[in-house]
Amino acid sequence: MKTLGLVAHDACKPILLEWVGEHVQALSQLTLYATGTTGRRLMEAYPGLQVTALKSGPLGGDQQLGAMIAEGRLDGLIFFTDPMSPQPHDVDVKALTRLAVLYDIPLALNRASAEAIILR
Ligand code: PGA
Repeated sequence: MKTLGLVAHDACKPILLEWVGEHVQALSQLTLYATGTTGRRLMEAYPGLQVTALKSGPLGGDQQLGAMIAEGRLDGLIFFTDPMSPQPHDVDVKALTRLAVLYDIPLALNRASAEAIILR
């Protein structure tokens, strides 16, 4: 795996930040892309980490990641979705996870799965 997408809905951003902190060394070997707010939060917390921040998820960032998957430019996706809140951009969320399934890339929707991906 060379390129990895990182996305977390607002309620899940602290979980992603903590998880990334536990795996900074491994993640620093990868080319990282994130939706806007997720990416900015990651770079603030871990200034040494190179993350390309795309548009914010609700403003098209999820779709940018989806396009990267369709073009074969993303090898894995960590996407911590909030199971407790409706999302205004739910269709984008579905489209992104659908493309990850369709193109058969590693997809983690929660921390336990992300752990399995990073440790494999
Ligand atoms: P954000 O987008 O990183 O810009 O908050 C995440 C999302 O809601 O898809």
